[in-house]
Amino acid sequence: MKVCVTGAAGFLGSHLCDRLLSEGHAVTGIDNYLTGFPKNLAQAKENPNFTLLKHDVEQPMSGEFDLVYHLASPASPPMYQKDPIATARINFLGTLNALELARRSNARFLLASTSETYGDPKVHPQPETYAGNVNQTGPRACYDEGKRIAETLAYDFARQYGLETRVVRIFNTFGPRMHPEDGRVVTSFVYRALRGEDLTVFGDGSQTRSFCYFSDLIEGLVRMMNATSVNGPVNLGNPEEITIAELAQLIVEMTNSGSKLTFKPLPQDDPRQRKPDITKAKAVLGWEPQVTMREGLQRTIETMSAQPEAQLLKIRA
Ligand code: NAD
Ligand code: UDP
Repeated sequence: MKVCVTGAAGFLGSHLCDRLLSEGHAVTGIDNYLTGFPKNLAQAKENPNFTLLKHDVEQPMSGEFDLVYHLASPASPPMYQKDPIATARINFLGTLNALELARRSNARFLLASTSETYGDPKVHPQPETYAGNVNQTGPRACYDEGKRIAETLAYDFARQYGLETRVVRIFNTFGPRMHPEDGRVVTSFVYRALRGEDLTVFGDGSQTRSFCYFSDLIEGLVRMMNATSVNGPVNLGNPEEITIAELAQLIVEMTNSGSKLTFKPLPQDDPRQRKPDITKAKAVLGWEPQVTMREGLQRTIETMSAQPEAQLLKIRA
């Protein structure tokens, strides 16, 4: 099939391209390298079925595709808060353009949405039926509300034009190719622990997250796209919940690091707890994580410690 992946040079987009190419699809990756890197696509670029286009999804896109996976958006809180208006624009205009692209080819469309649509959740764990608790005037809203309008657009295209659309709500996912300096917690902690630097825990570290390894997540994306009929969004994530202080301790232990924990104030609106209810993913996709958080951490630590320091370039200021 002819497949378009927006956000192809990012952490998840690049792994998705590798997966789709391994299945023999012709893949076109679109990215403007805002938070992604062409080096993530080194393996994909060796495949003659892969085409990479440098393009900003805020501008209309062209091409004929059977499937459109829409992943383009900054995803790390410090990255998406750096230019919040751009983040809101990318998620609104970018999703509109990706949907128009899909509509012109009558392609099936999948949106990479997020657990952030649940905001700082009052229901725990979060099922897809929970409407969420987003502070629409806060510093995370550019992303949270951006993804919420993106979901709205996906279902409006389905209702108004009969487009086949899919929405997955991705919970914290980690693994190789996640940039160690983009601010997200797992790779940031692993990178610092490997260098013997202090791990910075925000707040008292009692807030929780549930971390999924990337290979499971990619499997979930592909299953969701291939599912013949799915009503509404589906959560994808690993329900293994851990506090951030426990995560920091675990990473220090697993890396045999002498790093210490230091504490900084909790950023505004940082969700207190997060854990996916994956009952629906199990039922409609037959999907559940296969890699435990600890195994995923082990693999990430091994990959990052084998990587030459020069490859861990600073993300653009
Ligand atoms: P990432 O930052 O590594 O990748 C995002 C990619 O989108 C980057 O390559 C970036 O350059 C590209 N991009 C951003 N703006 C663009 C634009 N205007 N035009 C073209 N390309 C653009 O992040 P990721 O973790 O791979 O996330 C991928 C998707 O999954 C995002 O939509 C994110 O919101 C969603 N998601 C990820 C997680 C996670 O834990 N990794 C959780 C929830 C949702
Ligand atoms: N966090 C932290 N230290 C860091 C980066 C993040 O304590 O260096 C915390 C952050 O405050 C949040 C959790 O780890 O409570 C997960 O942060 P991340 O940015 O990875 O994801 P998100 O907040 O979007 O779930």
